[in-house]
Amino acid sequence: MLKEKLKSYIDAKVPIIYVNTYDDNEVEEEVLEVTGRRKVWEWNQMYGLMNRKEIEKKEVFYVHETINGDYTLEQCLKLGVIEKEFYRKVIMIKDIASYLENPEIVALFKNACLQIETGELDTVFVFISSILKVPKELEKYITVLQEEYLTEEEIKKEILDFIQENSIGNVYDKTLEQMSLAFKGLSILEIDTILSLAFSQEGELNDSALRLVMEQKKQMIQKAGILEMVSCEEEMKDIGGLESLKRWIGNKAQVLKHMKEAESFGVELPKGVLIAGIPGCGKSLNAKASAKLMGVPLLKLDMGRVMGKYVGESESNMRRAIALAEAISPCVLWVDELEKAFAGIGGNGGGAEVTTRLFGQFLTWMQEKKSAVFVVATANDIMKLPPELMRKGRFDEIFYVQLPRAEERKKIFEIHIKKRRPQDLEKIDFTRLVDKTEGYSGADIEGVVKEGIENAFINGKSEVSTQDILKAIESTHSLKEIMGESISKMEKEYKNRKFKNAS
Ligand code: ATP
Repeated sequence: MLKEKLKSYIDAKVPIIYVNTYDDNEVEEEVLEVTGRRKVWEWNQMYGLMNRKEIEKKEVFYVHETINGDYTLEQCLKLGVIEKEFYRKVIMIKDIASYLENPEIVALFKNACLQIETGELDTVFVFISSILKVPKELEKYITVLQEEYLTEEEIKKEILDFIQENSIGNVYDKTLEQMSLAFKGLSILEIDTILSLAFSQEGELNDSALRLVMEQKKQMIQKAGILEMVSCEEEMKDIGGLESLKRWIGNKAQVLKHMKEAESFGVELPKGVLIAGIPGCGKSLNAKASAKLMGVPLLKLDMGRVMGKYVGESESNMRRAIALAEAISPCVLWVDELEKAFAGIGGNGGGAEVTTRLFGQFLTWMQEKKSAVFVVATANDIMKLPPELMRKGRFDEIFYVQLPRAEERKKIFEIHIKKRRPQDLEKIDFTRLVDKTEGYSGADIEGVVKEGIENAFINGKSEVSTQDILKAIESTHSLKEIMGESISKMEKEYKNRKFKNAS
């Protein structure tokens, strides 16, 4: 697909094709394959300007007597454009991003583009970089090509080729299936690197290689910088209360786990859920436990990282994040602090305009989404959320999480004491703890349990008693005491908007 687009853009003489990718080599090969009779020159930081076809023959040969490795990009542009050395050539430029901050270089490119437009210069520039920076001055001359992700079938073929090339013996079908799924969202280069690493460490491709694959994949997604792959140890049983929300997620998990059967039965793929509510009451916990229950990776979208400073950078980052999530699907995409992500929508000024556009992009994607990306969006302050987000068709359901009621507090105490001091559980008087913690959040409760245990240890006790935890409660303030007014305001708002109670 990328190759076809590259070919059609080069044939159409687009002045600058900006390929936003991590896989330089793959793109280079594709450029060389589609350029036809045009010569391909490459400029990179290390060698300066080179004739690309000659490099293929492993003879580093500089195209012109005077063109040698010392040439800077600036010098090359002057030589190529002013002296017309770039005529009828495709000029590949790698690691371009930082150079596009230099006004002189931008001006030289602009001059070249103007000449290309008038037909004075017959050149196509191909920028290859993992970072997308489109200077305003070059915006109208640049066509951006995003990296495309491999399908499961293509990945499987890649693994089978690797197996054959390395004469690896038996690989179980199940391992092959799991690997193809685990590699979703990675480029050919990344897949090959991980396979080589797994093979050199394990000597075969087995279940332990699969663990290495997951670990490496996590790192690669991390490096891409927009999505974070979060490990989730938390399970639904680690969440005290919120029964209605947990039941609802459980049902959606059933559908996602049996996607093919569900779809052929006429069930629609779930889009996702918005969980709103005051801090520390289990929203993030639910995002993590959902992924665990569904048995899929949890990807966290960090809006801070999506926002870029160049024209179109934020939108492109958002597109990449969505494309990566779709490529990795089935997965849970967790958008934390949604209200912060889209703060300033509808406002004036460049920043607000970008946010509004990003928000529109996100909404359209949610509305039209057909992939198995289950979105869990969490928000503290729904009053700051744009109403469009709450319309039907975006999320399947919107839940609000309140401060835990008495029976929920009991469960939260049980969970946190059992996690740390299971041997003391029987002797604890939960009724007293529950009575003294009206207005405490789940995080508050976890806090007093931790403090009670620590105090018992410092005081040289051999076990933790109700009294130790009660003391910790006395020395803290509940969330309701701290932010009482805004909590009641928010609860009123949830009820007005007819959100579902998570409890
Ligand atoms: P924030 O909006 O501040 O991110 P949150 O609602 O996402 O808050 P969590 O991160 O889920 O809160 O909760 C913080 C910690 O408090 C959790 O790691 C967990 O240990 C504890 N906690 C909160 N609610 C519960 C609960 N219902 N059951 C068990 N533990 C809970």
